Parts: sequence; C-alpha cells; structure tokens
Amino acid sequence: MVKFIDTHCHLDGEEFDEDRSAVVQRAREAGCKAIFLPAIDVKSCQTVLDTCREYPDYCFPMLGLHPEEVKQDWRDQLAEIKKYLNNTLTTNQFPIPLGGDEAGLPVLAIGEVGLDYYWSREFEQEQLLAFEEQVRWSVELQLPLMIHCRKAQNELVTILKKYKNELPGGVFHCFTGNEQEARQLLEFDNFVLGIGGVATFKKSHLPEVLPACVPLERLVLETDAPYMAPVPLRGKRNESAYIPYVISTLAEAYSVSADDICRHTNENVCRIFKNFTS
Ligand SMILES: [Zn+2]
Repeated sequence: MVKFIDTHCHLDGEEFDEDRSAVVQRAREAGCKAIFLPAIDVKSCQTVLDTCREYPDYCFPMLGLHPEEVKQDWRDQLAEIKKYLNNTLTTNQFPIPLGGDEAGLPVLAIGEVGLDYYWSREFEQEQLLAFEEQVRWSVELQLPLMIHCRKAQNELVTILKKYKNELPGGVFHCFTGNEQEARQLLEFDNFVLGIGGVATFKKSHLPEVLPACVPLERLVLETDAPYMAPVPLRGKRNESAYIPYVISTLAEAYSVSADDICRHTNENVCRIFKNFTS
C-alpha cells in the first residue's frame, strides 16, 4: 500500500498526553508516513516544537495564531510567534534550520491562521488584522499558509487577493463547502483543499462536490485530530491512523484506487510544503 501524510493534526494537544507514542505507533502501522502539527497560539508553538522534536523525521511543525485565539492581546501574541519564525530567517536555504534548541526542525508553514465567525464576531476586526499580518509573513518567508476558515470565506478571499501573485501557496484546511466555494478557493494557484473526516459523514456533499470541480492535483489529506473523526468512528477522538476511512471515501468518489489517492495527495504535499523532505 502507498503511504499517506496527515497534513493537519493537533498531536501536541492534551487529548494525547496519556498515549501519544501509541497514537504515533498506530499511525505508522496504518501507513501514515508523516504528520504535520499546526500551532494555535504562543503556548502551542512550544508544544508543537517539543512534540516534533520527540518524533524527528515524522512530525513537522507549522507556526501561527489561530483565529479563535485572536483576543485583545493579539499583537503581543503575534510578536512572540514571529520570534519563533525569525529563528528560521538565518538562512534563505531550504530546509530552513531553526536557531538554538530548534536546530534542524524545519518549519513547514504559517498556521493555523484564518478567520472564524462561527462562534463569535467579538474580535472580527482583530481577526482580519491578525490574518493579514500572517499572510504577509507567508509572502516574506515564502512559507505556505495552513488556513482555517469558518463563516468568513468572502472576507478571507478579499485579503488573500491582495497578495495573490506573491503567495507561495497553502492549504484551505477542513474544506466543507459547495462547488462555488471550492472554485473560488482554487483560483489561488498552488493552494489545495484539506479533506478529512467530514467527507465520510452521511450528510456530507463532498463526495459529489469534490469530483465535480476539484482535480486530484488540488487535494491533501488531514485529520484535524483530535476532532472530526471519520465514520464509523464519528464522535470519538480522531487520530492519523483513521485517515484510510477518508481515503476510501475519496477513492470511491473519484472512481480511482486508494493508492491513487495517496500518490496524488503525497505529490501535492511535496509541491506545496517545500520544506518537507520525506
Ligand atoms: Zn486545526
């Protein structure tokens, strides 16, 4: 079987504190060859880096401020996160080594970042400013974006358009939209849609939407673990070992083999995450 990559997994989360090594072991046994970890705030930049250091050449860090973590103190948070990223600026070569303790840990992307108006619009303006600042980091560092977007696609696209020609690419993670929304996002070159457990849900339209307008060159796989476990494990804690359920759903939807899904998504990962060397 061709191996696959989990491009979005909160493996540093406390949900995995009891049995993280077993989770990694199950991922390896299920055919997962790498796991990418997004940070959500300053504190998690450290836990993400720590977890990646514990599983070298298997877990890879992404650093950023998640829209739901954008509060009054967002400028201070961004300044701290930029310090982590600036340690990568010592060279223009890829992979970029981090300074000091983090030496040899290649940061793969800015993330996760974006806009989320689902729960609250309290920090709507702050979210817009924080997202745009991190989009500028993506351009400056030429690191791809790992983007989270909920109930805010038009606002998100408006910001991204300003930088369209300079952006190195990225992932619209946990895509659950319709055809029109997919087409709007795919207008950004070198961006792909991250597909996870939601595709397996009974009411999901993704098995029809994706083959209709998203070529296999524009998809990557993800869990968003511990959230979004696929059917038949829906509601349980998610982990990378469950991605084969998503692969089966996609293989059926596109009328291709599971190996084809893995091969395409692996190629897409390598094209977008230039610091990832498998
Ligand atoms: Zn996430």
